[in-house]
Amino acid sequence: MPRCCILVLLDGLGDRAYASLQGKTPLQAAATPHLDRLASMGSNGLFQAIRPGLALPSENAHFAMFGFEQAEFPGRGYLEAAGAGLAPGREDVALLAHFVSLKRQGNTLQLIRHRPKAEVDEQEALARLVASYIKGEIAVRYDRTHGLDGIVTMKGAVSPAITDSDPLETATPLVEVEPWQDAGGDASARETAAALKAYLVWCHEQLAAHPINTKRRKRGEPEINGVVTQRAGRWRQVDSFSKRWGMQGLSISSGLMYWGLASFIGMDSEKVPDTADPGHDLAERLRLARRKAADYEFIHVHSKAPDVAGHSKDPFNKVAAIESLDRGLGKVIEELLADEIVLVVTADHSTPSSGPLVHSGEAVPFTVVGEGIRRDNVFLFDEVSCAGGALGMLQGSDLMYLVLNWLDRAKLQGLMDTPRNQPFWPGSRRPLLLD
Ligand SMILES: [Zn+2]
Repeated sequence: MPRCCILVLLDGLGDRAYASLQGKTPLQAAATPHLDRLASMGSNGLFQAIRPGLALPSENAHFAMFGFEQAEFPGRGYLEAAGAGLAPGREDVALLAHFVSLKRQGNTLQLIRHRPKAEVDEQEALARLVASYIKGEIAVRYDRTHGLDGIVTMKGAVSPAITDSDPLETATPLVEVEPWQDAGGDASARETAAALKAYLVWCHEQLAAHPINTKRRKRGEPEINGVVTQRAGRWRQVDSFSKRWGMQGLSISSGLMYWGLASFIGMDSEKVPDTADPGHDLAERLRLARRKAADYEFIHVHSKAPDVAGHSKDPFNKVAAIESLDRGLGKVIEELLADEIVLVVTADHSTPSSGPLVHSGEAVPFTVVGEGIRRDNVFLFDEVSCAGGALGMLQGSDLMYLVLNWLDRAKLQGLMDTPRNQPFWPGSRRPLLLD
């Protein structure tokens, strides 16, 4: 019986139907013989990481898929800070941050452009300029992670219950930093919001006066004169993935958030680079997963390529990314099918290749292949064909229960071999000792 499940997670794979693709989704339009082969060999369905219609970012979707409750979620700012190796303290608040071009309009700051083009030495110099700030008892730090992106860390009596200053859309003003409504009476949330606002205004003043921006103005380039923030987070106590599901987990992934999430829930991570060829990257990651399958019961193999292509807002880019991934899968499919593993292919959320939404709430296709797994009548891997499969609509932690089941690790309901009621069997039970 297989003892390892490999989850191939094609980020943002789900999409909408487009006239430019003759009414098909990019996945329906793409030539995917290897994904279709998997669909024809196993059970298929649709997957919703939380609930139908909810537009999810990868972090919340992955957290739900790995069998955690949203109430336990620490916030993306914390996860990226941890993934970047910044080791945020347990009481610190960490926020996603990046540089933008701003224009003063009346008493607002209009967002002109996200991450204007800049040389690496400019990026580093500007990050150093805003690296440290103190407001009362609260200390603020900026750490550059890559390009014009970084993490703002706040220390002191701080709270993550504050709003985003980043409006996302250009030609709109920066958003006021406020405490959340349900934290309205919380002095630390009010003070955190006030300190962050003061820091962002100070950043704008410092950056606008810097010689880099004097030069950029002369050259007619957009100034890099502001910092915006999103998705504040803070560490919290959660049971680890292995304690919750009785499996050792590994994430093979290429982004700070995934590494931070893995460390937060006690999974190991293999930090792999992205090249310009997502199919090659996927094949390499799957080869690595095969080598690691003896040491782990659950391996997450991630590709960001479909999501990135979706954000380009050109459905043909997404078709090309999907076809590249399918070719990559084709390089290792024979070995994978010969292995004693359960192989799942799905996504975390849909990323629409057109329209104003960042992500959208449609379900994503799901397929699973392995020993003993039912074969249904689906022969194509896409959002519509998989809906006719034997698994129907799966949600959230259904995935982890099904993985335990497919690996013959599901506990018969009602058995209690440990004081803690856990979903896996056998548990970490203790032998009865004679006095
Ligand atoms: Zn995305």
